[in-house]
Amino acid sequence: MIHNSFCWIATWKITDRCNLNCTYCDSSIMKRADASEEIDRFEVIDRIGAYKPRILNISGGEPMLVKELPELLSKAKKTWDPYIRIVHNGTAPGKFESSFPYIDRLVISIDGPGEINTATRGLGGDAVLEKIANLFDTRPANSPPLPEITVNTVVTEKNIDTLPSFAAQIASVSPLVNLALLPVMPVEDELSILKDREKGYRRFLDIYAKMKAVHPLTAHNFDCVMRHDDLRKIQCYNQYFTIRFSPRGELFTCGASLSSQFRRSDNVVGKIFKKGGIKKAFTMMMKTVKGKMGKIDFTCRNMCNCESWLDMLFLGMNTGYAPIILRGFKGRFDDDDYQKLDQFVRSKINPNFDINWFKGLVETN
Ligand code: SF4
Ligand code: SF4
Repeated sequence: MIHNSFCWIATWKITDRCNLNCTYCDSSIMKRADASEEIDRFEVIDRIGAYKPRILNISGGEPMLVKELPELLSKAKKTWDPYIRIVHNGTAPGKFESSFPYIDRLVISIDGPGEINTATRGLGGDAVLEKIANLFDTRPANSPPLPEITVNTVVTEKNIDTLPSFAAQIASVSPLVNLALLPVMPVEDELSILKDREKGYRRFLDIYAKMKAVHPLTAHNFDCVMRHDDLRKIQCYNQYFTIRFSPRGELFTCGASLSSQFRRSDNVVGKIFKKGGIKKAFTMMMKTVKGKMGKIDFTCRNMCNCESWLDMLFLGMNTGYAPIILRGFKGRFDDDDYQKLDQFVRSKINPNFDINWFKGLVETN
């Protein structure tokens, strides 16, 4: 444990470089694909391995641009055997071929079919689906099995009406490809379909039913938003189960400390003075103070699409979304882990938490 965190899920933003230039990307951090980045990533993987996170998310930037990726993943698997998820922007999923033996799930972000994806990412959604189809169709017979593939799509005012046909397109690529739907964050954003939460949610559920009918492996995590009465101040429990690493391996957690966020070399000061930044800095400062006194503070004023499916489970609510992610924990907990979790959740989150129910979900998933 560090800063009271169980460290079960680590996200390593492995590079700040990317070969796309999405309209919503943070250009103060992202660098061009050919920018130089001198990082000893083998040293970073050792640092992450010290926490033995059960699930290792590799995001970016674009992880495909890291030449030594297969060797890094192989090292992680040999050293502590995490479940590995890689987030990819869809430009060339085939380039992960030499990493496939170590990847458990390849998550490909697509904003919608055809021109919808072009408008935000400069790359057609249909072209990305074709590349995914090629993965299934054109691999030599003796290749290692493909990892599980998930398409991640944020539901917006721009794409919502196209989603049923998008789900049908994905089903025709392969009925085995998961489609995960996420709400826009922050929820008040002009592209969010949840600006009027109740009405937006009902509209979404209508569309979702149509999607499920054509592609049963569709799941969503909108319930993680809908469970909160007031989004200006939520209780986020999973923040004490997750840790994050910058490309150079600096550790930062939401519940950790303001100084850990400052250790990142990107434009932290600029961010603090952005909308919402001061509130966030204040929340982190309070957490730092409380953390030093050994207190747990679950407050968050900047809700994100993090691992909020865990919160639902801690509250005894299963959603269609959780089983997809829970697979990563299977076989990676011992009795001591379950005991510690039981104690933590019952004393701090939900006195009625049923650890055997949770264990059953993890181990039989
Ligand atoms: S793919 Fe991701 S990292 Fe790359 S430009 Fe788009 S949002 Fe930024
Ligand atoms: S919801 Fe808030 S506290 Fe939880 S992980 Fe996201 S930013 Fe951190």
